[in-house]
Amino acid sequence: MNKKNLLSYFNNASSKDWKDWRWQMNNRVRKTETLHQLFGKNLPDKDNLNKLNSIYPVNVSPYYLSLINDNVFEDPVGIQCLPQAQEITAFQEYPHDPLEEENHMPSPKIINRYPDRCLALVTENCATYCRHCNRKRLWAQPAGINFKKRLQHIARYLGASEQIREVIISGGDPLIYDDDKIEMILACFKAIPHVEILRIGSRSPVVMPMRITRKLCRLLKRYRPLWFNTQFNHASEITPDAARACNMLLETGIPVSNQSVLLKGVNDSPQAMRDLLFGLQKISVRPYYLFHCEPARGCGHFRTDMKSSIKLMQDIRRECSGLALPQYVADMPGDLGKIPLLALAEQPKDSLSKHQYFFDNFD
Ligand code: SF4
Repeated sequence: MNKKNLLSYFNNASSKDWKDWRWQMNNRVRKTETLHQLFGKNLPDKDNLNKLNSIYPVNVSPYYLSLINDNVFEDPVGIQCLPQAQEITAFQEYPHDPLEEENHMPSPKIINRYPDRCLALVTENCATYCRHCNRKRLWAQPAGINFKKRLQHIARYLGASEQIREVIISGGDPLIYDDDKIEMILACFKAIPHVEILRIGSRSPVVMPMRITRKLCRLLKRYRPLWFNTQFNHASEITPDAARACNMLLETGIPVSNQSVLLKGVNDSPQAMRDLLFGLQKISVRPYYLFHCEPARGCGHFRTDMKSSIKLMQDIRRECSGLALPQYVADMPGDLGKIPLLALAEQPKDSLSKHQYFFDNFD
């Protein structure tokens, strides 16, 4: 689906429109009819698509759609953003909330799994919904709270929790907000004396890179030390636009790291993984974590076999410089945190036996 075809689909929008993140946000594809018009026979039939949409809504930016080639479910971008029947037919025994985040919400819109840091859910909305998202349970739920109240709740909790020195601003994707709201969030958290570090988790550089503007960078610069984590999962996402967005952040003095998810059919081959890691290194984005895909309901078909995935990453470790090598981990429920899987392969794992379903096919 190239950009020219998409522009003509959107009433011959201009290239200037295309480069405007607000245009991208306003023209996200959210209707199943639109998906059918664009991708037709490749998708589940209309009834199934509507059912899927009511449980896990469709939401893709025109920019991200433009990266899809013809065979949508053989394409690493198509697989990540287009709905598939397995989301509601396979692995329905998996929990909606595998990391037990909802048991670690001491206050609305705060997830606190560790003593010194916590995650602020500033929105449930994203520029594109990734079909493998472990928070996809939130997509169809009403937010139930407006922006100001949300920020007040989060700030009140942070202010009263002196042990917290780092806040991860996440969601959803915080960069769906305009600059004024982003400034309100940053200023509010920065004003709390014991909060030393802010971190933004956003997939915008990958799915809507035009969101990274000079104005936004000037704003972010005022709130350093500020760290930025994004999520490239395949080399085909490392486009000139995405590289430019990351470079703008880096030139602002904001370190950009990458947290990939290991996804079946996307990056679980040696070639795809090498291309991703070397591609990130070439744009100066540090591969930080590679997550084993969590057993969240609606995501089971993305999960790879753990034993062969460990072998994949052991081989990659031998071929890659340390700068290109992410830590391959399984994120575990509650405060168990991230388990480094290459180290685990060499150690007993008895203490984790009650979470055996995280380790399918691992012995
Ligand atoms: S951008 Fe992040 S929060 Fe949003 S759907 Fe993708 S993985 Fe989930």
